[in-house]
Amino acid sequence: MWNYNYILTGLLVLLVLLCHYLAMPRANIRINRTFIQLVNVQLGTLLFDLFSSRVDEDFAFIPVYWLYILNMAFFVFYLARAFWFYRITCDILHIRPEKEPRKGLLVASVVGVSELIALSSFFTGAVFRIGEMGYERGPAYSVLYVCWYFYLALSFVLIFRYRSRLSGYELFSVLGYNLILVIGNIVRVLLPRYLIMDTFCTLSILVIYLAFENPDLYLANRRIAFNMAALREEVTDLFAKKRPFHILAFVVQDYVETRGIYGGTQMDRGVDMIAQYLTLEFPSCRIFYLRNGCFAMLGPQRMPWDLIHEKVNARFQEPWIAGDAELYLSASYAQVGSDSGMESADKTINNLVRALNRASQSAGGMINLDTTRELDREAEIKRALEQALDQGKLEVFLQPLIDSRSRTLVGAEALSRIRGTDGRMIPPSLFVPVAEQSGKINSLGEQVFEQVCHFIRDNDLNALGLSWINVNLSPVQCMKKDLSDCFLSILTESGVSPDLIRLEITEQAVADIPLLETHIETLRQNGFRFSLDDYGSGYSNLSRVKHYPFINIKLDMEVVWDYFHDQDQLLPSIVQAFKQMGYSVTAEGIESEEMAESLSAIGCDYLQGFYFSKPLPLGEFVSKYSRA
Ligand code: C2E
Ligand code: MG
Ligand code: MG
Repeated sequence: MWNYNYILTGLLVLLVLLCHYLAMPRANIRINRTFIQLVNVQLGTLLFDLFSSRVDEDFAFIPVYWLYILNMAFFVFYLARAFWFYRITCDILHIRPEKEPRKGLLVASVVGVSELIALSSFFTGAVFRIGEMGYERGPAYSVLYVCWYFYLALSFVLIFRYRSRLSGYELFSVLGYNLILVIGNIVRVLLPRYLIMDTFCTLSILVIYLAFENPDLYLANRRIAFNMAALREEVTDLFAKKRPFHILAFVVQDYVETRGIYGGTQMDRGVDMIAQYLTLEFPSCRIFYLRNGCFAMLGPQRMPWDLIHEKVNARFQEPWIAGDAELYLSASYAQVGSDSGMESADKTINNLVRALNRASQSAGGMINLDTTRELDREAEIKRALEQALDQGKLEVFLQPLIDSRSRTLVGAEALSRIRGTDGRMIPPSLFVPVAEQSGKINSLGEQVFEQVCHFIRDNDLNALGLSWINVNLSPVQCMKKDLSDCFLSILTESGVSPDLIRLEITEQAVADIPLLETHIETLRQNGFRFSLDDYGSGYSNLSRVKHYPFINIKLDMEVVWDYFHDQDQLLPSIVQAFKQMGYSVTAEGIESEEMAESLSAIGCDYLQGFYFSKPLPLGEFVSKYSRA
């Protein structure tokens, strides 16, 4: 039996040492640190279990105090092990006992008292004593079981309570190793002479290692750097300890396209090279590769972050040599620190990721995450937009277009509206760009178009004095292949004539994009008509205007206001030129009678602005303009 125990202990020690060795390089990660503690305690228990059992056999030849010391040491480790298994369960469940020190202390006092009882055995013989026949169990031996069952029971309660924080696999693993511990405790009673508990505990440690310490969980692809999960852990830990930190992150611009150009293998090498460069050049920072060309460098706040940024940026001026290819890459940056006013680690990381997404769309430069509010607002807008689109809560308002001569209603522009969670209106100037970025603009455009078609179907436009309704078309919508098919099918389905709808396209949409031209041509052939929106706000290129089948030009509000404040000859000439070319002209942003008069005087055919009416909900529009 002894031989068996030696061999088994040797194997268990080796196994635990292996876990220790494999987990050590990542000892900065929160779960990992607890894991290392647990492994140390397990090693201590194994060794003292073996020593104490050995000397207990030969008790007659060993001084009594040695027998006490070795046995007491074993019990101290044995009991501590129960506590550390419980602690790692807390870490896995994202519970931080240090947040509630009183409760934490109370829970820890169980192991403390149990250990004191074990240590007192020297005087009291409570847990064990060395009698004439050597080692004997004492009357309070069951304290070992009480301590273990207390922590196991507590672990199960916590697992049950916080189970939603874990994935199925994690829940399975955490239940698994705790069950192994329960079985270990039961079998130990039945087979006290064998190293049962040690074997079961090592088994549990293996389960924890494989489920939660597996390098793949914390290291990015190809193991060149830590990954997102590791960054989250690390920042959570820094927050808990209130340690000032700073993260400088960057994204390789046009990562996906560049990958397409250089090929996956070369690009992977490039990413490796960047990680390697960062690791070697900035040893005091921890390097994370988040995904898709996004890197993060984490370090103490006191480091010269501006210089680090400059240095990294300078390195990006040079090519990255990957095999026989030279990769020319550029990066955009975002940074956040513990002084940026974020309340939690999760918020820090989520905002960093959003900032990186934004940085990837801007050319170079740096986004400082002090603009938390702005990012929060952006997230809120995105949420409100998705909700409005998914739940059919997108609202359409109509703003009248007035004939400048007769001053009567001739048309209306459909303008979309959504509401935030607080019920307040979010203006399109905020949500349209978000919709364009997230691709939701297609669904937004379709819903507005559908609502307008239904409005036309359900109302007598003539009775309202409307000859047509304008619908805005975003340049991004025109990038969708089935845009015209989709509009045409909505139109057919609602039985509306296309000449009652005008599509407004902004100037920047008038890019020389074949797809845009195809859409415009298809829609035109099917009876739609087009307006050029916001003329004068972007690139004003008359020849390009001519290239498209517009029938109407809408002067941008700024242009109208500029003219009204400083009446030079430029705008009247432009309006005249447009009119000679056969376009009708609309002036937007008319806010007073004087403006209405002066813009009519230079030849604008239609007027739109708050002076006549703000955009109104469909119902209000109908009641206001119903002639009946
Ligand atoms: P836009 O197409 O140029 O629409 C005119 C904007 O000017 C509207 O802002 C309108 O409320 C505002 N406006 C009208 N008269 C006055 C005035 O006298 N004074 C002032 N200060 N403003 C006036 P809104 O509704 O906030 O829309 C802003 C922009 O958002 C629109 O500019 C349009 O480009 C875009 N947009 C709105 N709805 C949609 C939509 O359904 N689809 C798309 N793609 N874009 C939309
Ligand atoms: Mg418009
Ligand atoms: Mg406009």
